[in-house]
Amino acid sequence: MKIICIGRNYSEHAKELGNAIPEQPVIFMKPDTALLKGNDFYLPEFSNDIHYELEVVVKISKPGKYIQKESAHKYYEEIGLGIDFTARDLQAALKSKGLPWELAKGFDGSAVVSEFFNKESYNLSALEFTLEKNKKAVQQGNTKDMLFSVDDIIAFVSQYFTLKKGDIIFTGTPKGVGKVSENDILEGYLENQKVLDLRIL
Ligand code: ZN
Repeated sequence: MKIICIGRNYSEHAKELGNAIPEQPVIFMKPDTALLKGNDFYLPEFSNDIHYELEVVVKISKPGKYIQKESAHKYYEEIGLGIDFTARDLQAALKSKGLPWELAKGFDGSAVVSEFFNKESYNLSALEFTLEKNKKAVQQGNTKDMLFSVDDIIAFVSQYFTLKKGDIIFTGTPKGVGKVSENDILEGYLENQKVLDLRIL
């Protein structure tokens, strides 16, 4: 499976990192080895500035290529929450040289994914999600603020990459990204339901 991620999909987050609002989706990928197993995230030694990015994730349910936006909803049945851990110091160094972000975004454990839930139970076009760090809300997003909807994203990426069953799409983070430190507890909520519970070590 592959993990496709969307950057700068919330204008307030693009602004907080000093980036322009994109005219088409910004895409990057993580390898399948990035998936975190369990609830413990170990801070890697190569970074002093690991950031959380809370994102709604969707799981592709059947293969497709050149999917039209109008039929994109048929290609996913389940959604969840994820954290796109980012080595912000490494990313800034790579960005300044115009180099790809993989080292900063695709390292082991950098893709955290909750359990998946049937999308019919949610209104994906106005879905609230919240991240608490040590019991204090640090990110509050609503998918209505996405620049590119899930269906836009699927139509766009499937022009380039054949989507396969089990692929996961991280749909971008709202504003409020920040650093994690040893012993932090991260808890993610989809609407009012806690679906992520993570310990930083
Ligand atoms: Zn992200």
